[in-house]
Amino acid sequence: MDIHCNRCREPWDSYHLVHEAVWDAVDDLGEEACQNFGGKLTPRIKAALKDHGWEFGMTVCNVKRCPCCPDDAEIDADRAAMANAVEEIMGDDLDGIISTMDDLF
Ligand SMILES: [Zn+2]
Repeated sequence: MDIHCNRCREPWDSYHLVHEAVWDAVDDLGEEACQNFGGKLTPRIKAALKDHGWEFGMTVCNVKRCPCCPDDAEIDADRAAMANAVEEIMGDDLDGIISTMDDLF
């Protein structure tokens, strides 16, 4: 299932977000951290990914900025608010968040 960026609406495959996007920051995080990632964002991982154009909410399923975003792109406040609410309700249930985001958007 695809998760859309809340800023530029680029579709990202949820598998890519959970398992592969972290490798953009492998030089900062190291291979072991990337292999063990599994979609769990820590402040260190969030900061490293931000340097590579990614900004997330509480989970990788809430894309606030992606590497495809034009510099001047504004976040879609309504979509972002809904994505934040889904995360608050579902907690760290990534599969639940992915499926709910797919239904909503
Ligand atoms: Zn984007």
